[in-house]
Amino acid sequence: MAEETETKMTFADLGLEEKVLKALDDMGFEEPSPIQEQTIPMLLNGKDVIGQAQTGTGKTAAFGAPIVQRWDPKVRGIQALVLAPTRELAIQVAEELSKIGKYARIKTIAIYGGQSIDRQIRSLRFGVDVVIGTPGRIMDHMRRGTLNLSEVRMVVLDEADEMLDMGFVDDIEFILKETPATRQTLLFSATMPDEIKRLGSRYMKEPHHIAASPQQLTVPQIEQFFYEVRPAFKTDALCRVLDMENVERAICFCRTKKGVDELVEALQTRGYLAEGIHGDMNQAQRNRVMSKFKEGNVELLVATDVAARGLDIQDVTHVFNFDVPQDPESYVHRIGRTGRAGRAGTAVTFTSAREFGQLRLIERVTKTRIQRKPLPSVMDVAEKQREQLKERLVKVMDDGQLAFYKEVADELLDEYDAEILLAAALKMLSGEAKAPTAPSVDFGDTGAEAGMVRLFLNVGRQQLIQPADVVRSIASQTGIPGNVIGLINIYDRFTFVEVPKDVAAQVVQAMQDATIKGRSVNIEPAKRR
Ligand code: AMP
Repeated sequence: MAEETETKMTFADLGLEEKVLKALDDMGFEEPSPIQEQTIPMLLNGKDVIGQAQTGTGKTAAFGAPIVQRWDPKVRGIQALVLAPTRELAIQVAEELSKIGKYARIKTIAIYGGQSIDRQIRSLRFGVDVVIGTPGRIMDHMRRGTLNLSEVRMVVLDEADEMLDMGFVDDIEFILKETPATRQTLLFSATMPDEIKRLGSRYMKEPHHIAASPQQLTVPQIEQFFYEVRPAFKTDALCRVLDMENVERAICFCRTKKGVDELVEALQTRGYLAEGIHGDMNQAQRNRVMSKFKEGNVELLVATDVAARGLDIQDVTHVFNFDVPQDPESYVHRIGRTGRAGRAGTAVTFTSAREFGQLRLIERVTKTRIQRKPLPSVMDVAEKQREQLKERLVKVMDDGQLAFYKEVADELLDEYDAEILLAAALKMLSGEAKAPTAPSVDFGDTGAEAGMVRLFLNVGRQQLIQPADVVRSIASQTGIPGNVIGLINIYDRFTFVEVPKDVAAQVVQAMQDATIKGRSVNIEPAKRR
């Protein structure tokens, strides 16, 4: 591919100041996403904006950066209010805003139902600058007089269509009426039903409409599929796919520089030949990585969109979207690197449930079908590794020239059993191969029976947990069959469960953000008392 000379906007070009730029750089963002490029200058100019954007497009930073920049340190009180449909989104937005506001020292708080209201009242009293909350709980605080909105100058309705679907429209209107009329109002929504338009015309001042990627795009005809995985499980999922697919030369795209570094480290630890490339690396470092990749000493190049843009890389067998691209153009651009010159190529995208809408938008704009695939289980990978081991051995057999080894074999066969000998030889052979998908971690003595690891789960009888719940959850999270799960002891407040040693690390990792009977659980190796 020819090097591209097209210059892209930078965050500084959009009018953002040093304190925000520095924070965005720390977060690993290299350049603005399309929605940010369009929205940020308008918001900095004090305009009201209606943005049609899904999760995964960078919409949070699109309103977050202007909130931080427009924040006035001389004013005491809440200066920005973000309304979000769910607790999860409120927390996520609060986290992102506090990262963007790191150098401005902005205090953010997420306020949602289900959390102790007293604690929220204490935090509010302590003084916060930005509140992100679900409409119901915000109303609660307003009724109690524990939320003073008189200094609010920016209100954001995030995922407005979701809030309407959840029946929050009256609450939203009530809250908007209670904020100063001089406020700047922003509305983000994946879809634009009439009710949203009505909200816009009633409560916003000549809002500017911004939509991401309306034009149609064409994509190369290559195999495209996606896996739906929880964010914490993505690295594992990628490893499983790498083990199952015949990946020779691949590019894996991450959203941020930080993401590239973290993924490369995780992959290298697990024995994959991976190298990263991103904007913080100097030319010499990039050249080194690129020549390794070209010589075939690297099977997987992990890159940000920005770093990959200037690279002349052709005929990769696979393109992996470790993060869903922020706009359809970037999807087309990424996957265009495979399937060149009539060769077969595969594009694989990992998506969380929340980013699903963004994937569907990409499908719509590109008029292609991205097929869902079930993630290979640990057992599928193990089976594949077995097959590969057999194939390698048979190939050596077919290649012949074994006279010397036959002599050694004869000598050994005089002394040992043939099956055991072959097994030992296979073990030696697989020892040269890549480390298994999950590094088998030595958890020490957990008090489990031989070959097993005892794990501690922080739920028990009081949470009405039964053995079947534990088995079901572990089996579905990790893909290991329920019948390999060993002894389960349920106590009042906790549970012990034994799992085979070779999958224990995988279980611990996969269960990190799992739920059992709707409760989040904590799982860790048991300590022998
Ligand atoms: P959102 O659509 O706001 O939920 O953002 C999706 C993800 O993209 C979040 O993890 C953000 O931190 C990340 N993100 C937002 N803007 C950028 C950017 N310009 N470059 C890289 N990552 C970004």
